[in-house]
Amino acid sequence: MAETKTVKKPRSFPPSLAGQCLRYSVMELLGFGRLLSPETLKAMQDGVRYHKTYQEELLQTHIVRAIEAPIKDIERGISGRIDAIIDQEGSPVVIEYKSVNPEKFSRIAAAGPPVLHWAQLHLYLAIGAFSRGWLVVESRESHARLVFQTEGDPFWAEWVLTRVRLAREHQQTKKLPAREISEGCLQCDRWQRCFKTDQERDEAVQGHPQWRPEPPLPQEFGIRIIS
Ligand code: SF4
Repeated sequence: MAETKTVKKPRSFPPSLAGQCLRYSVMELLGFGRLLSPETLKAMQDGVRYHKTYQEELLQTHIVRAIEAPIKDIERGISGRIDAIIDQEGSPVVIEYKSVNPEKFSRIAAAGPPVLHWAQLHLYLAIGAFSRGWLVVESRESHARLVFQTEGDPFWAEWVLTRVRLAREHQQTKKLPAREISEGCLQCDRWQRCFKTDQERDEAVQGHPQWRPEPPLPQEFGIRIIS
């Protein structure tokens, strides 16, 4: 009897990668390993705990349509889960929740939402045809929260969908895209796939600290905060 070969299904694109370095996203889609430090693992575990607490709080204080709502775009190969969808005056509001350390919280309070989180929220809006979203950022130390609200933005919808398309194209050809060098490389848990030594990485970042993705982001990242 002829042997049947099982063809592995390509990994779906997780929305959390929408605002990531493209090379990093493709590594994730191709199943490359990550070098996770004990601090990162601890932060991930804490993050899960904070998520659950926030979701429980929402259930007590809001009309909740769904928690951990699955979202899929089969054509574009995207699959993920929305932290929560609440109801406000009869309309759904998508919530993406993040807990961050106090330093990051201060940076976000001063400069606005990071591309990584803002892009994820806009990918949900784009593929789920939602018209309102909140990015909730909580300090793990003080438990203060920032809520950034959006009613969607055509710029962001196009940007995130283009990034997903590019990542999927590279996934199909199994070729990693060029590096998108920035200060983010210093915290990247796959940096060894891009640089031979940490000295080489640090010098590259020094010469190119600002992230320049393709398609480009405008200087102010196009973020429009309603409140
Ligand atoms: S080290 Fe830098 S260029 Fe390489 S995957 Fe990480 S963020 Fe991207």
